[in-house]
Amino acid sequence: MNADRTARLEKKIAGLARTRYIPETEAGESKQLASQLGGVAWLPRSSKWPRCKSCKRPMHLILQLTAADAPADALVVPKGKVCQVFHCGRTSSCDEMGYASTPDGHGKLVRLIDAKSAVRAADPPDHLALGRRIVGFASAPEVPGHGDVIDHMAAKLNAKELAAIRDSEQRPYGKTKLGGWADWIQDVQSDSCTKCDAKMRFVLQLADEVVEFGDGLAYVQQCPAHPEQFAMGWSMT
Ligand SMILES: [Zn+2]
Ligand SMILES: [Zn+2]
Repeated sequence: MNADRTARLEKKIAGLARTRYIPETEAGESKQLASQLGGVAWLPRSSKWPRCKSCKRPMHLILQLTAADAPADALVVPKGKVCQVFHCGRTSSCDEMGYASTPDGHGKLVRLIDAKSAVRAADPPDHLALGRRIVGFASAPEVPGHGDVIDHMAAKLNAKELAAIRDSEQRPYGKTKLGGWADWIQDVQSDSCTKCDAKMRFVLQLADEVVEFGDGLAYVQQCPAHPEQFAMGWSMT
């Protein structure tokens, strides 16, 4: 394509930009209920540490995020709630690659709990990844990779533009982040809400910091109308 056409196409794609938030962390956990990667989760009072529905072992906490820390344009954590992402860690046996809805689903658990009645887990499992508290986010605008551009704009693009996008190497940020656009390693994954059937929205991406996804990435989506409904999947490189 010539320079004019390329500029026009880039302008169209820029219209899809979203803000991504890369967590900034420090070693150690807070004594209060706080946002963190890894470590010991806070649990609803008198509930047990979550176990994998497949192998029955305790799962790893990957991410805990308070409502105050959740960027509203990335994911919805209603006031008074805390979002938690757990994973079994046995990616080959317990969590077969595909997207699965959660809080149900095997090998993974993404849920919202009430902050008010949450207490630090009294008896956390051994061998948890050391916790890192989230102290801030580095935010920046981000445009989608080629798969999502085609998914969201195919009707507005001509054949030359589609071909140019398919050939492009453009990829969103490829590590742990909230919001922005997924760095799909394989095909674009999409799922719909089990309650309302609406298409879910990509809300966060996790690299190998706590659980190994085969040097790949895990992706979490959320229903825009039912914030307690999530889907989680992963891809390896
Ligand atoms: Zn398991
Ligand atoms: Zn829904």
